[in-house]
Amino acid sequence: MAPGCSACGRSFAEAAADDGPAAFVILIVGFLVIFPALAVEIAYAPPVWVHLAIWIPVAISATLVLLRVFKSLLIALQFHHDAGEGRSDRGL
Ligand SMILES: [Zn+2]
Repeated sequence: MAPGCSACGRSFAEAAADDGPAAFVILIVGFLVIFPALAVEIAYAPPVWVHLAIWIPVAISATLVLLRVFKSLLIALQFHHDAGEGRSDRGL
């Protein structure tokens, strides 16, 4: 990740999406791949290599696109809500 915003200079040192983007993307890509694969299997019953040739590139492509989107989204939400680690609004 870049050290800071190129437009306003805000530091990204506190930005930590951790495993959040991966968790969302696993669920979303799972739905995007499994149900169409089941539909293709039920409708056409192709050989296994056809499934592999179709769904592995789809899963990899969707993962690469969505990981970037969800990491950006979670970090933007973190900044928007001024979320931080190890503190609360109640001063506890
Ligand atoms: Zn900025």
